[in-house]
Amino acid sequence: MNYKISKAAASLSPSLTLAIDAKAKAMKAAGEDVVGFGAGEPDFDTPQHIKDAAAKALAAGFTKYTPSSGIPELREAIAEKFKRENGLTYKPSQIIVSNGGKHSCFNVICATCEAGDEVIIPAPYWLSYPEMVKLAGAKPVIIQTSDKTEFKVTPEQLRAAITPNTRLFVLNSPSNPTGSVYTPEEIKALGDICVEKNVLIMSDEIYEHLLYDNAKVKSVASFSPAHFEHTIIVHGFAKAWSMTGWRLGFLAAPEPVAKAIDAVQSHSTSNPCSFAQKGGVAALTGPQDHLPKWLAEFDKRRRFAHTKLNSMPGISCVNAKGAFYLFPNISKTGLKSADFCAKLLEAEKVAAVPGIAFGADDYIRLSYATGMANIEKGLERIEKFCKTLAK
Ligand code: PLP
Repeated sequence: MNYKISKAAASLSPSLTLAIDAKAKAMKAAGEDVVGFGAGEPDFDTPQHIKDAAAKALAAGFTKYTPSSGIPELREAIAEKFKRENGLTYKPSQIIVSNGGKHSCFNVICATCEAGDEVIIPAPYWLSYPEMVKLAGAKPVIIQTSDKTEFKVTPEQLRAAITPNTRLFVLNSPSNPTGSVYTPEEIKALGDICVEKNVLIMSDEIYEHLLYDNAKVKSVASFSPAHFEHTIIVHGFAKAWSMTGWRLGFLAAPEPVAKAIDAVQSHSTSNPCSFAQKGGVAALTGPQDHLPKWLAEFDKRRRFAHTKLNSMPGISCVNAKGAFYLFPNISKTGLKSADFCAKLLEAEKVAAVPGIAFGADDYIRLSYATGMANIEKGLERIEKFCKTLAK
């Protein structure tokens, strides 16, 4: 049988992160002492009151289909979150709850982009954005940034990349993979250009609550009614409430876009898991005291790893102000990222993610969402590896 694979599906790149992860897991399973820096999820458990709310809903038989875009109670709690934390007024009908932030991104791109459209994505980018754009038949337009600008795209770069075909600009702050955080002024400058050029912004704010060094975030939607009308915010429960496995994310969009996304979701996945949504309500309306504790722990690890990395031969690392990743520059080691990570795993049994997966081959991504003992051990090994390269 000669299976026909659609052009869109055939255009996708297999995930390098998953390949490295699979290799590290296979080594672990074979009894090897592998240190993993690959995690894209907090190493803390979901807070108990959130688990209790979902368990209670499950026990009470809250196990049937819900409205496709989420239960009213959760959509209202999300609208309330945007008002309380971001000063943004959304009607619950503008909120769509999906099966994770990734699904929310996919819904946005699927509902707004098609063949002939261009989507501007600053690199280093979260690796799924360009693949989602390709799946929609549209064209990813990558703007390259580097550690010299803390991986931030400049207004001039954005302006130069916009063409009459530009449909969407993807903004992700705090960023995966770099941990970079735009200042409110920088965000506004980028938003101003999108308003002027009539380009929609997909603002992925899933790491909004994970901030260090007094960094402040302000949603691009919040600068003016025009900014609001040009923005779709993507968010989710995965990172700040450690709910990656729950598959629960959400978005807030102008009414016509929300309506289109509602239709897309109703014909693809239908509603996100019923009792997980009850957990989502508890996450937003319940106590938030877990967060300062997690942030203090992340911050300790971030500071330690940043200092240690900068003491290694061939490595330089700007400090991240958000999320739970560092993105050190390895170009002076003489290796490109995939080679560096493959050799590091082979020689020192440390799993890191090559920057090439995020469109930045001079870097690697290290997640510090793992215990301090692991971080210390893993960084010692990376140092040893870099010393062998420097010889
Ligand atoms: N956006 C960014 C930038 C991410 O890093 C992730 C997860 O790694 C997501 C969205 C999606 O997360 P989830 O689908 O688990 O909610």
